[in-house]
Amino acid sequence: MSSQVLSGGAPRCAVHPEHEASATCQRCGNFTCLECVHWVLDQVYCTACAFRPEVNYLEAFRLSVWGKRDANAWVVAFGTLLLLLATFGALVAAEWSLAVVLAGASGVGVAFFLGVGWARPALVVTPIVLGAFGMARGGVGGLVVGFLLFVSALQIHLDTRTRLFFREDVPRRELKRLWELRVNNPVARHAMSVGIGAFFLPVLAPVAIVLGIVGLRRVDPNARPPIGRRGQALAGVVLGCLSLAAWGFLFLPLIARFVEGVLRPIDG
Ligand SMILES: [Zn+2]
Ligand SMILES: [Zn+2]
Repeated sequence: MSSQVLSGGAPRCAVHPEHEASATCQRCGNFTCLECVHWVLDQVYCTACAFRPEVNYLEAFRLSVWGKRDANAWVVAFGTLLLLLATFGALVAAEWSLAVVLAGASGVGVAFFLGVGWARPALVVTPIVLGAFGMARGGVGGLVVGFLLFVSALQIHLDTRTRLFFREDVPRRELKRLWELRVNNPVARHAMSVGIGAFFLPVLAPVAIVLGIVGLRRVDPNARPPIGRRGQALAGVVLGCLSLAAWGFLFLPLIARFVEGVLRPIDG
């Protein structure tokens, strides 16, 4: 044990025996001095433990997506492809000013996909320019399309995961929200949505049940970090079973009766 209690009786830091201890590490139990103490998610840790991925899981999660291309980058890539086709069309039609505007917008799209810093704010400005140009040329239609594109671009601009792709620091609170969504038992979350969908599409019922069971098995309140969503996993199983029952005893007999009713006059 590296926790030290010297002859004086006061506990000493495990790393700095000359310092008096001010706290105990939550994970390894070592005494730490004020210099060594680390707060991670409202818990006290020593320096060695504070940087372990299972302790500072949000930091580990941040590093795992830092600078990595996200789904939004691919959405922008698809939009850019359409813009490039439109640019080509404008060139063929000898619409020079339109071609210049569309080529500029395509350039923003390409830069965004490559994660170039200025492209994130430029993505919000681009629909405004396109909308204004569209209004000058074709009237209100261009403005409406520009506005709809602007709303999507703003959403992408503010998205936490996209900001991490652009290597921008995000507040801990937002990182936690993203972690909850992506890492904290997403299977259980999907089980519940698929379970609701099963009332409209019976083939989804077994999927919801299987996802729910997988989600339930992943729940571990003692894990570090704790894995939750037991309720949503259970909801997936229950909704899956209920929808099977509803389809078996209610919807399918009703449909059968309806089909019979339609066919009878033909038979007669
Ligand atoms: Zn420790
Ligand atoms: Zn120390």
